[in-house]
Amino acid sequence: MSEVVEHLAELTGFRDRDVMDVTLVSALRDLVEPLSVAIFRLVGEAGQERWLTRARLVGDAAVASADSVWAERLPSAHSHPDRLDCMHERHVLQRREGEHWLTLFPIATEREVVGVLEIESCEKLKNSDQRLVGSILRIYHNFQGLLDYSERDTLTGLLNRKTFDESFLKAVGNGSPISAIEQADDGRRHEGQRPSYWLGVIDIDHFKRVNDSFGHLIGDEVLLLLSRLMRNTFRFHDLLYRFGGEEFVVLMRCTDELDAAQAFERLRLNTEAYQFPQVGHITVSIGFTPVRPEDSPASAFERADRAVYHAKSAGRNQVQSHAALLAMGLMQEPAKLSAVELF
Ligand code: GH3
Ligand code: MG
Ligand code: MG
Repeated sequence: MSEVVEHLAELTGFRDRDVMDVTLVSALRDLVEPLSVAIFRLVGEAGQERWLTRARLVGDAAVASADSVWAERLPSAHSHPDRLDCMHERHVLQRREGEHWLTLFPIATEREVVGVLEIESCEKLKNSDQRLVGSILRIYHNFQGLLDYSERDTLTGLLNRKTFDESFLKAVGNGSPISAIEQADDGRRHEGQRPSYWLGVIDIDHFKRVNDSFGHLIGDEVLLLLSRLMRNTFRFHDLLYRFGGEEFVVLMRCTDELDAAQAFERLRLNTEAYQFPQVGHITVSIGFTPVRPEDSPASAFERADRAVYHAKSAGRNQVQSHAALLAMGLMQEPAKLSAVELF
């Protein structure tokens, strides 16, 4: 019993989801002693979903393996129909796999089932172990719900501004312990080419008019619908934030500027074409910049924001690249942020 409590204390001691997933599989490995235990998440656009390994421990391996969120060659959803069944049925599923047994547990958030926990064992998993895993998963679900509550904007469900700095530094790879695990597992990161990241700031044009003409509630609905357009426009691993009022931020990984520009242009076009109930059509102005190796979250944001400012003064409803504006001499490098401004 005290071993279980010990593991629960550890599981709920982190605010980092990657570490939590690793902690969950290692707790279950100690408690159930299976051949392997893993958390898989279904990710990707509708119709093209893939399995992302969040954490997997085999035997008594010291380190869990995991796919990088940026990984490109993940197994397709249909390559593991039993996992899909488990998610769909929202029920524990147990079956023989050759000499072994597989037991699958659905992993759900408040809104939806997002993946499965898979335990491989020599013998069929005992009922008491199934109950134990079920209870630990419930604590895990509840804790994830609390994390969502503190990290996400309540209106749109996008990440909130408070989480930007931390997730920016983590995504662009500042060597946290978990990114070391992910990198060890993802050979492509060792090929010497630094992945490139792009930061975009999106601001709705004349949003004040929407509020003034239709009221705040309708305004809020526009914000919600725009966040859905963003989700449908960008890829699942791009990080989307609501930064405040009607300003949004996207952090994405692309191969080059053209790729990034096309993604932002797609959002601009999708927004322009969308018929918002009552309001009709709205437009957005977007500025973007490559993330530089020496960037702080604030310095990258400032460049993209300046490009938005330029888009506004050049007529709105457009995408502006900070790098292109610099090259054309239409913009200067911002002065370095002083330590005082950063705090
Ligand atoms: P511009 O094209 O220059 O961006 O014009 P704008 O009217 O969008 O200008 P600005 O960014 O100054 O105004 C933002 C407006 O967004 C002000 C406020 O009425 C509205 N707003 C801010 N937060 C919220 C919110 O949470 N809900 C709603 N409905 N409106 C908000
Ligand atoms: Mg604004
Ligand atoms: Mg605005």
